[in-house]
Amino acid sequence: MIPRLRPNLGLADYTALFKSAPIEAFEARFATLMGQEHAIAFSYGRSGLLFLLKALGLQNQEVICPAYSCVVVAHAIVLSDNRPVFIDSDMGGFNMDLEQAERAIKNGAKVIIATSIHGYPVDLDKLDALQKRYPDVIIIQDCAHSFAAQWQGRPVQQAGRAAIFGLNISKLMTSIFGGMVTTDDAALAQSLRALRDLEQKPVGYLKNWQRRAYLIAASTALHPLCFEWVCRIQKWGWIDRFTQYYDETLIDMPVDYTSAMASVEAAVGMAQCDRYPELIDHRRRIAHLYECELQDVDGLELPPIIDGATFSHYVPQVSEPDALLEKMAAKGIELGRLIDYCIPDMEAYAPYRSVDFDYPVTRALNQRVINLPLHVDERLAQRIALDLRQTLQT
Ligand SMILES: *Cc1c(COP(=O)(O)O)cnc(C)c1O
Repeated sequence: MIPRLRPNLGLADYTALFKSAPIEAFEARFATLMGQEHAIAFSYGRSGLLFLLKALGLQNQEVICPAYSCVVVAHAIVLSDNRPVFIDSDMGGFNMDLEQAERAIKNGAKVIIATSIHGYPVDLDKLDALQKRYPDVIIIQDCAHSFAAQWQGRPVQQAGRAAIFGLNISKLMTSIFGGMVTTDDAALAQSLRALRDLEQKPVGYLKNWQRRAYLIAASTALHPLCFEWVCRIQKWGWIDRFTQYYDETLIDMPVDYTSAMASVEAAVGMAQCDRYPELIDHRRRIAHLYECELQDVDGLELPPIIDGATFSHYVPQVSEPDALLEKMAAKGIELGRLIDYCIPDMEAYAPYRSVDFDYPVTRALNQRVINLPLHVDERLAQRIALDLRQTLQT
């Protein structure tokens, strides 16, 4: 069985697993990689966002974020004592509709979390124009799906006050868990670091060994040879609690969200930084292969081709994803359904619904988007494309 995702780990990454590295070394390496002055490491991407909002001195403010995004972003906004304002996606795209975002700014929102979802770069020209019209608005780039995606040659992470990154095993590169905030603003970097160091709990041997064990277990379980068995166990519901990352009714954070990044995570993160061009190149090649092989398949709407996309996911749309997922699973291929929820429609977010905005595009994406494995090599990708074509044609 081919899993829908698997971290891209090479020999150097596995070797790094038995080393440790100073967090500061990983931060410096990451900042250089992203072309930014400062990087500050956290236990999760969402912790980074929460501390960033605090370090910016924001409280009781309206923070604009996409309705079509990972729910942990909204959690970080609420738990930093601010209020999310959810905005629908652009018609025909995945990213937030910036015209609607402007309406929210006119209503008083002070911050915008511009997200380049699935690796598709946010439109920086529109964002620049917005910043010009509203110079006081703070732009934060959510790059968890889009490490170094580029809008017409400009890296998205550099176009705002700060950018956040998630580094868990489902992301473009990993430090096991962990997250980063990058910025060119020295004063902001300093206050964010000070705030983090004040609240952060130190990490001992235990967390380091837990993280090692986790990565070894995850990468083994997600090996095609083992994944078959994992799926059988999953059917019994045993490991649901390890894979379910949210609860419809709760706005919360992982229990260790204020703990420091473990030094083994920094070591793995540094090894991944070294392999970063290769990691992105692999995703682009496989996405391009799907693009070529899946042209003109009836019932399959392919994602747009945009230069500068880094493809955290390859996301076609179909009318009945669950039926397709089931048929493909029977052929030994797991496809994913990535963001199958609209955040403001979730029970926990009922208090944050606004009559001013609606989410028809997000809801359509929720019901249509699937994602194909990008971790596979060319030969396997060919097979997946062929099986998908045949399944949709019968
Ligand atoms: C994964 C993700 C994050 C941060 O995730 P963590 O799990 O907290 O590291 C932020 N935004 C988006 C869109 C994500 O997918």
